[in-house]
Amino acid sequence: MRKHLKQLLYILLVIGLSVIFFNPLTTFAETVIIDADDLLVRGGPGTSYEPIGHVNTGDVFTIEATESPWLQITYNNTTGWVHEDYVTISTEPLLDQSEDEGESETPTDPPTQSYPYETRISLPVVHVRQEASLTSEIIFKLNKNDHVTIKNEQGDWYQVELDDATGYIKKQVLDFTLTKPVGQSPLLNKTIVIDPGHGGIDVGAISLNDEFESQFAMQTGRVLERYLDRQGANVVFTRDDDYYYSLTSRATLSNYLQADMFLSLHYNSEPAYPSASGINTYYREPGFQALAETVHASLLAETSANDRGVASGNYSVLRNNRRPGLLLELGFLSNQTEEQRIKQASYHEKLAKGITNGLIDYFDMR
Ligand SMILES: [Zn+2]
Repeated sequence: MRKHLKQLLYILLVIGLSVIFFNPLTTFAETVIIDADDLLVRGGPGTSYEPIGHVNTGDVFTIEATESPWLQITYNNTTGWVHEDYVTISTEPLLDQSEDEGESETPTDPPTQSYPYETRISLPVVHVRQEASLTSEIIFKLNKNDHVTIKNEQGDWYQVELDDATGYIKKQVLDFTLTKPVGQSPLLNKTIVIDPGHGGIDVGAISLNDEFESQFAMQTGRVLERYLDRQGANVVFTRDDDYYYSLTSRATLSNYLQADMFLSLHYNSEPAYPSASGINTYYREPGFQALAETVHASLLAETSANDRGVASGNYSVLRNNRRPGLLLELGFLSNQTEEQRIKQASYHEKLAKGITNGLIDYFDMR
């Protein structure tokens, strides 16, 4: 009888500890990205447990439980534990889980990413594997700031192009690019109105290859939406399609929603000066000059574009707007080199990242 009582107490203790360690209040599934090569995975939370295998830099797992300083992961269909000193913990939701939420996404939306596009590695080391599997052989290692061309996607993996081979990188590793995870972002729950300039019969500037500013502005808007979405912002478009909406109605939407930010996206053209290039950032009220300077600096840092400066501009979408706002001229369609850049998906990624990081900096300061 005493023995049974002891067993019962032990079971209660285990349940109690489980409640403490398996915190049910966690909003996002936490992801762990391995920072070391040949890191041992153990059968339990301590060095006294048998090693059951190893993981490598860039491998990504969902944290099933924590028992500080040990993290439980699912490894080869069993339970394994890794030490937290050798990993990066991210509160970014795993991509397949965010897809499961579903309700905020319009299912009819076409995929916004077109391939191929070039991106930059933001982690110290990223493994490229022969096949789209964590157990597949590592054929190449990419380092921070290396450029890589993404050819396509395959499930949870990106197919990437190397010198004379094709390899695979786990999606979460490449998407781990922004400075703040979702739960802590100052953009969380901010209403951000994206205004892709022009539209419909108003095509805006026309590029050297007869493409329209209105379409490039929409392309940037779509990528920016993805970046802002990942920060937990509520993104609203002034136009969702290739149709002309009056400038007044765009500003009115921003006022009506009491937007935290209004961003009008444009591309420039100066056919008489084909060498003109770079980015301008315009604000209206003097109170938004700091906002303009912050976003402008971040845009230049990401794109290395020519700095055309920050200025006050008397634009209708800003003049009729009572909310914080900017009008961004993101490059010259009349400049041959810049037009080629604007046609690449990677440029829109850089712009979106620059704007997003600029907004994070701005809201962080307030
Ligand atoms: Zn324009």
